[in-house]
Amino acid sequence: ETIDVARLLEPILNDARLVSGEEGHDIRADLDPTLTLWGVPRELQSAFSNLVFNAVKYTPAGGRVEVRWGRDEQGRAVFSVCDSGIGIEARHIPRLTERFYRIDVGRSRARGGTGLGLAIVKHVALRHGARLEIDSTPGEGSCFRVIFPGP
Ligand code: ATP
Ligand code: MG
Repeated sequence: ETIDVARLLEPILNDARLVSGEEGHDIRADLDPTLTLWGVPRELQSAFSNLVFNAVKYTPAGGRVEVRWGRDEQGRAVFSVCDSGIGIEARHIPRLTERFYRIDVGRSRARGGTGLGLAIVKHVALRHGARLEIDSTPGEGSCFRVIFPGP
């Protein structure tokens, strides 16, 4: 079915602000309300919320989380979440979408989790013909992008 992604994201962003709570992350959204997507709503809601909650979870208090839904220069629909968090060492990136893979340092361990979130994101992306791109700099932050086929 045709999904109004900007609308699908509103409750996710509200929940993320609640989860951040006193940690007071600066959670910003730049959403194109005219850009819709053909897909399975509950799958995309699960994938997008995993990425948004990871950004909050792996970003220290007061940090920035930027959620974007729009077209890239080539006209493809892109969902991205960038954070100013702990970042990820390059050697871990290829394995992040494996089930139960978690980086065993400081905040990751302290926060807990099962390590299934990104495996679900990858699976949902593939089912929608999309690709998951991960860019990160340790100590600076990370960007996760789900790039849909198009235009
Ligand atoms: P779950 O999502 O199942 O509750 P999880 O968050 O540990 O647990 P994933 O979402 O699959 O599992 O993420 C895997 C690992 O990737 C995390 O344990 C963390 O080490 C790292 N990671 C994920 N997102 C980020 C991020 N935005 N910044 C830094 N590290 C991240
Ligand atoms: Mg997670």
